[in-house]
Amino acid sequence: MSPCEVVIVGHGAAGLCAAVSAAQAALERGFNAHITVIERAPEAEHGGNSCSTPSYLRMPSVAGTAPGFVADVLRESAGRADAAYFQRLASDAGPTMAWLQDHGVAFHTLVYYLAAGPARIQPVGGGAAIVEALPAHAKRLRVVFQYGRAAHALQLNGSGAISGVGLDDGSVIKADRAILASGGFAGNADMLAEHFGPAARHMQPISPGTRANTGAGIQMALSIGAQRAGDWTGMHAEPIDPRSNGPAPVVLVYPYGIVVDQDGQRFFDEGAGLVHETWEAFARHIQMALPGQRAYAILDSSLLDIPDHGRAIRSEVGPIRADSITELAALPTCKPP
Ligand SMILES: Cc1cc2nc3c(=O)[nH]c(=O)nc-3n(C[C@H](O)[C@H](O)[C@H](O)COP(=O)(O)OP(=O)(O)OC[C@H]3O[C@@H](n4cnc5c(N)ncnc54)[C@H](O)[C@@H]3O)c2cc1C
Repeated sequence: MSPCEVVIVGHGAAGLCAAVSAAQAALERGFNAHITVIERAPEAEHGGNSCSTPSYLRMPSVAGTAPGFVADVLRESAGRADAAYFQRLASDAGPTMAWLQDHGVAFHTLVYYLAAGPARIQPVGGGAAIVEALPAHAKRLRVVFQYGRAAHALQLNGSGAISGVGLDDGSVIKADRAILASGGFAGNADMLAEHFGPAARHMQPISPGTRANTGAGIQMALSIGAQRAGDWTGMHAEPIDPRSNGPAPVVLVYPYGIVVDQDGQRFFDEGAGLVHETWEAFARHIQMALPGQRAYAILDSSLLDIPDHGRAIRSEVGPIRADSITELAALPTCKPP
């Protein structure tokens, strides 16, 4: 009997976890499956957002999420979050960490940026540690990888079942099952503008891999009748240094000084909460409401005396310095464009 052809779209953490667990399940059940992972990026650039994320996880330990996690999410989303989805996320979190540990990913607990706050765990090496650990297991289980191939459409047979995955180059990979793990649409200016408004069109992707996530998987699923879920007007955004070319150059020191727009006006209560409680609203306000999508965090240089302050300023470009506020304001780099 010919094997069940399983095609997984995307070589980030989600696609790799799907590939390894599908291959293991097939082996354990004596099921003849042939699993292929296709990835838009060349092999040297695979891994999408997963390779750039520090991957802080809102868990006090690998055993599971903190008590109250689901309630917090429901409260923050004003009740719009899908409670069943987040309950499942919470109940599966501990076993998922155990599964990753079994596959060679180590975790540690660390201080979150500079702020006090609930403990976070992190894979040692960030999200890249997951992307590096899993392919060896997948290859041992005979998963096949194809790089530089972008999925474009799902093909159906006469009974409405998946029969293939169409690629951008016009070719089709035979598929009896398809798993879409190709990320969101942060790399698609049209979709960003459609769902978040015109100001989102030119939002700077937070990492190089983000550009590959063009929403293709979402479009592929919708075009064969998938239902939409979740809140499409919300996103995760972070304040970043626009001068940086590095991945995730976040600037999360604003609670220790003041923040002004390019006209020198304050626009945000910097001390409204711990950084992890305010950065979403702060980043979205900069992008959606401020002229030039620019803000300036002004801090006393004693910030630089704090050990590990680099955890909260992940830009390779140094701060603009002056001996007084007046001198700072007069610098050409601080003048509105
Ligand atoms: C800078 C940064 C910081 C983050 N910080 C955190 C954090 O601290 N904690 C946290 O929990 N999360 C964080 N995240 C989010 C987290 O990284 C993502 O939720 C997670 O990595 C998503 O994994 P994924 O496998 O779904 O997608 P990705 O890792 O993005 O993988 C998607 C893959 O699909 C490929 N692809 C896209 N379209 C196609 C196509 N049409 N055909 C073939 N392949 C395609 C892409 O090239 C990519 O390799 C952060 C993300 C970034 C970028």
